[in-house]
Amino acid sequence: MFVVGLTGGIASGKSTVARLFARRGADVIDTDAVAREVVRPGSDGLTAVVDAFGKDVLTQDHCLDRRALRALIFDDEAARRRLESILHPRIEAAVRERIAASPGPYIVLVVPLLVESGWHEWVDRVAVVDVEEAHQIERLAERDDHTHEQARAALAAQTSRAHRLAHADDVIDNRGPPEALRDAVDALHERYLALATGGR
Ligand code: ADP
Repeated sequence: MFVVGLTGGIASGKSTVARLFARRGADVIDTDAVAREVVRPGSDGLTAVVDAFGKDVLTQDHCLDRRALRALIFDDEAARRRLESILHPRIEAAVRERIAASPGPYIVLVVPLLVESGWHEWVDRVAVVDVEEAHQIERLAERDDHTHEQARAALAAQTSRAHRLAHADDVIDNRGPPEALRDAVDALHERYLALATGGR
């Protein structure tokens, strides 16, 4: 199955673009959703997290208490690595299962940290949603009610725009209005359909 890795900085428009691809018939896999799935109540992922970090990371109804977990790994590099070693292999296995079961015609795999995770090396194509950092800060402030300072800190925690773009096969420019974005996705959808069916 032909897999397009879709990435972009925080609040660049990844979810918006993924929705547009889904509407055109692409099979969209959202790794954030998969990441939640692997620690759902009763999962072996959640059991492993509790074994490593204790029962305090559970809410009263046996769900993962993300806030408590974040507090535990905040400023603790070893704890963060330990958590990643539990989550990452499970997320990757679940994503590969979803890919194997995909009805096609091609997959858009939304991975916020595509370049950071190294997944750009195995997907068939890398599409990057690109905006200027000033746009990201504005949209992040509006969407998540962040201060500009919080938004800037969130951006600083990710790879740089230039580094991400260096790995792009396709750049989706989201500096314009939503109509321009729809046109860009229309064109890419046609290209991906052709690539997926071998018409290079
Ligand atoms: P991401 O998934 O990359 O974090 P979103 O798709 O949630 O980003 O977009 C961030 C915010 O910016 C959302 O509120 C979205 O509606 C808005 N947005 C996305 N694209 C545009 C655009 N071209 N013009 C104006 N607002 C946009």
